[in-house]
Amino acid sequence: MLSDIEIANAAELHPITAVAERELGIDAEHLVPYGHHKAKVDLGYVQSLGDRPPGRLILMTALSPTPAGEGKTTTTVGLADALHGLGLRSMACLREPSMGPVFGMKGGAAGGGYAQVVPMTDINLHFTGDFAAIGAANNLLSAMIDNHIHHGNALGIDVRSVDWKRVLDLNDRALRDLVVGLGGLANGYPREDGFDIVVASELMAIFCLTESWADLKRRIGDIVVGYTRAKTPVTARELGADGAVAVLLRDALAPNLVQTLEHTPAFVHGGPFANIAHGCSSVIATRAALRLSDYVVTEAGFGADLGAEKFVDIKCRKSGLRPDAAVVVATVRALKFHGGVDVPDLGREDLDAVESGMENLARHLRNVREVYGIPCVVALNRFPADTDAEVAKVVELVDALGVRAYAATHFVDGGTGAEDLAKGVLALLEESDPSTFSFTYPDDVSLKEKAETLAHRLYGASSVTWDGKAKRRLERLEADGYGGLPVCVAKTQYSFSTDATLRGAPTGHDLHVREVRLSAGAGFVVLVCGDVMTMPGLPADPAATRIDLLDDGTIVGLS
Ligand code: ADP
Ligand code: MG
Repeated sequence: MLSDIEIANAAELHPITAVAERELGIDAEHLVPYGHHKAKVDLGYVQSLGDRPPGRLILMTALSPTPAGEGKTTTTVGLADALHGLGLRSMACLREPSMGPVFGMKGGAAGGGYAQVVPMTDINLHFTGDFAAIGAANNLLSAMIDNHIHHGNALGIDVRSVDWKRVLDLNDRALRDLVVGLGGLANGYPREDGFDIVVASELMAIFCLTESWADLKRRIGDIVVGYTRAKTPVTARELGADGAVAVLLRDALAPNLVQTLEHTPAFVHGGPFANIAHGCSSVIATRAALRLSDYVVTEAGFGADLGAEKFVDIKCRKSGLRPDAAVVVATVRALKFHGGVDVPDLGREDLDAVESGMENLARHLRNVREVYGIPCVVALNRFPADTDAEVAKVVELVDALGVRAYAATHFVDGGTGAEDLAKGVLALLEESDPSTFSFTYPDDVSLKEKAETLAHRLYGASSVTWDGKAKRRLERLEADGYGGLPVCVAKTQYSFSTDATLRGAPTGHDLHVREVRLSAGAGFVVLVCGDVMTMPGLPADPAATRIDLLDDGTIVGLS
C-alpha cells in the first residue's frame, strides 16, 4: 500500500469553492479561499445560519491508546466519508495538526491511508496560519506584560508570579526554561520565563471554546497573567491587552474548510492539547458544521477517560452542544496491549490477550454509556496484522456487553470500508434516547469534589491526594471565586490511572495532583497529575530528518 503522503499527493482535489457550493450550499461570496483547496468560511455568514435546525453530532473517542494512536482521526474521516457515500450530508470536524509532532515523533494528524483530509501537506504545515496568529497573539500579551513592568509596573505585578509563557509551534526543548530581560537597564527586568508549544497555550483553548468575537475578547480579558505581592490576580484586561490580542485572532476565528479524499467537506479548526487543555476542535466549527450538514463527526483527544470527558464536561457544558451518539475506536493491538502483550509482540495472534484486554474497553464503554449517558457503538479499526479470529472475538465480546461493534477497513478501502459502521451509527441514532446525556459532576460542587468524582466514577481510583502546594493553590482559587469552573485533568492517556504502565482497568489506585493551574479565560482549572510536557523535545531520530523538498517542489517524507 502507498504511504499516506503518496496517497494524498496523488489525490485529485475538487476546487474548494465547488465543494462548498455542492455539498454545503455555501456561495463563493461567503468563502475566504486560501489558494484553491482550502478556505475560511466567513464568520458572519456562519452566525447568520443560527436558526437552522442542527444536524446530529457524533463524537469519536477511543479506548486507552497505545503510543502509536488507535485511529480516531482516521475513523472520523472514514465515517464521514461512509455517511457521505450513503448519500447523506455529512461533515468531519477535526483538530489542526501541530508542527511539533509533524517534525517530531508522531507525524501528521490528517488521518491515514484512504481516510485523509487534503491537502495533507498544507494541513500539517502552516495551513491557513491560525497557529501563527495564536502564537503572535500570545506573544503580544507576553511583550505587554514585560513592557508594563519595565515602564514602572503600575499594577504592581510580582515579577516572580508571572506564569504567562511565550509560545512557538515547534518542539524545542532548549526553550523550556529561560531568563528574559537580560542585558541591562534598557531591556527590562530579568525574570524566569520559557516557551510552551502553541497547542499548549491557554489562548488555543480559548480559541476553541469561544463563540464569537465579543466572547473572545471577554475571555482574553479574563486571562490571569500573574499576581501582585498581595496575591491579587492581574488580568490581561487590566493590562489593556484584550482588544489588541483579540485583533490578532479576528480572522483566524473563521473555520477552515477542506475536503476528504472522497470530497466530503471537513472543518479543520483549532487544536488544543488534550492534557492541560480540553483537546477538541473549535466550538465555532462544530456549531457551523451542525448548521450546514445533517451528520457531523468530531474527534476528541486521547481515550474516553480524558478526551470524551473534556468534550462533555468542558466543551458541551460551556457551549450547550450535545452529542447524539459516540463511536469508541478500538484496535486489536490496543486490546492485546491492555491484555499484557508487549509492543514488539503485538503482531502475533493472541485471542486470550484480546479477551483480557477487553476490560479496558469495557470500562470506557461503561463510562460513555452510564456516566456521560451517550449511546455508543464500537468501531474496530482493522490493521493489516489483525486475524479474522481476533476480529470476530472482539465483536463477540463487545456484543456480550450489550454494545454493537463494527469492523471497519476505511484505512485501506476509504468510505466503503466504514459503511457497516455508518449504518450501525444511523441505526443507533434512530433508536436511542437523546435525553440521557449528563455531565460527570455539577458546576456547584467544590473543585476538590470534582476531582474526586472523576477519580471514582471514571478512573477506578480509590483516593485523591494533593501536593501541599497544589492544595493551597486550590483553596486560593476557591477563595478567589474560581470554584465554579470545571476541572481539566492532565494525566497520562495510556492508563486510567496516573501510571502509564498500569494497563487494562486498574482499581484502587491514587490520583495524585501535583500542581493546580488556572486557565481563567478558557474557563477551567487544570489539575496536573504526573509529568506534563508543555514544550516537547525532538526524539533522537526526528521525522524532520526524513521530510524533504524535491526539486519540483513536491514535499515528501511526511507521515
Ligand atoms: P488518533 O487520532 O487516534 O491519534 P490516527 O487516526 O491519527 O489516530 O492514527 C494513528 C496512526 O495510525 C496514523 O499514522 C494512521 O495513519 C495510522 N492508522 C490508523 N488506522 C490505521 C489502520 N487501520 N491501518 C494502518 N494504520 C493505521
Ligand atoms: Mg487524532
